[in-house]
Amino acid sequence: MSSMKKDTSSLAPRPSSPRDRIAQWIRPQIRKLSAYHVADASGLIKLDAMENPYHWPQDKIDQWLELLRNAELNRYPDPHARQLKDRLREVMAVPADASVLLGNGSDEIIQMIVMAMSGEGRSVLSVDPGFVMYRMIADFCGMDYIGVPLREDFSLDAEAVLAAIKQHQPAVVFLAYPNNPTGNLFARADMLRIIAAAPGVVVVDEAYHAFAEDSFMPLLAEHENLLLMRTVSKMGLAGLRLGMLAGARQWLEEFDKVRLPYNINVLTQLSAGFALQHAAMLDAQTQQIKQNRAELYTQMQALKGLTVFPSQANFILFRVSSGRAGAVFEGLKAAGVLIKNMHKAGPLLRDCLRVTVGTDKENAAFLQALAKLDL
Ligand code: PMP
Repeated sequence: MSSMKKDTSSLAPRPSSPRDRIAQWIRPQIRKLSAYHVADASGLIKLDAMENPYHWPQDKIDQWLELLRNAELNRYPDPHARQLKDRLREVMAVPADASVLLGNGSDEIIQMIVMAMSGEGRSVLSVDPGFVMYRMIADFCGMDYIGVPLREDFSLDAEAVLAAIKQHQPAVVFLAYPNNPTGNLFARADMLRIIAAAPGVVVVDEAYHAFAEDSFMPLLAEHENLLLMRTVSKMGLAGLRLGMLAGARQWLEEFDKVRLPYNINVLTQLSAGFALQHAAMLDAQTQQIKQNRAELYTQMQALKGLTVFPSQANFILFRVSSGRAGAVFEGLKAAGVLIKNMHKAGPLLRDCLRVTVGTDKENAAFLQALAKLDL
């Protein structure tokens, strides 16, 4: 420690801020971005992030903890997560001839696809409003992003998408089915026209599949450029960070080259594997959420001043009177309920907010607080 006391002031670099070096070295696309913002939910009823609100029964928690007791934390995980993949294939009904690739959340899968396809003048296409990570990842991978506006009723404007595909020849098209943040399923026939017209791949993102009545999974074999993405996040396992891509082996082998080794950690492999062995328990929670969604929807519709949009997901988008979204968001927060204000997320979402379907008690607290506000 004595050397610390030596006078080294003549050797020390001149104090300076990192600003100039950042301007020189951090790419302009990155400097322009804002980091993905997650609101602080401390002490609030959390209805902002499409999480499943239910825990497991105590006996299942005990069994799971028993399994973790033997987890080999000193070893790297199985690099191919074989057991977990097998279980996912079964639970998600992946066709036998399709391959499966796993990501640390489906966010990471979006990143792998875009990284593998990025390049000068290449583009990613999706719809607006859509899931924000498609644009963000395209941005930081140096790709152009084309967001084709939905119609006012949030349906897919197939003609506009097809025209944009023709003009921009995107490497990848992302379509969330159901869509986030609008909650609707696009017309199947429109989706099929887009898959047929796309020069590259079409990723159908079924993050909210558990709450919807339809899937493109059975069509994988019929379209070589169709890829299907799922996540366990909305099935009660958001904390594990696990997403899945299913599709033709040749495509997935290419994406696998940009996957970091051991991206699915030991605890996730064991815990997700365990949870998926108890798929009936996850299913029961999903059914409960769907029932709560129907009740919440009806009760919200009864409130004067709200336009409530039908949803096939575990959230509901709604519109308040012109200019009121900020006040409604803050009013709910003051009453202890955190939802998401979508007002600034594009012109079609003016005056819109999005609430995640919670437990009976959480939904009641939300409705009670909402009913007291000037909507
Ligand atoms: N796709 C869509 C449409 C989403 O809404 C989300 C999460 N909000 C994701 C993908 C990412 O899910 P995760 O990374 O948790 O798997």
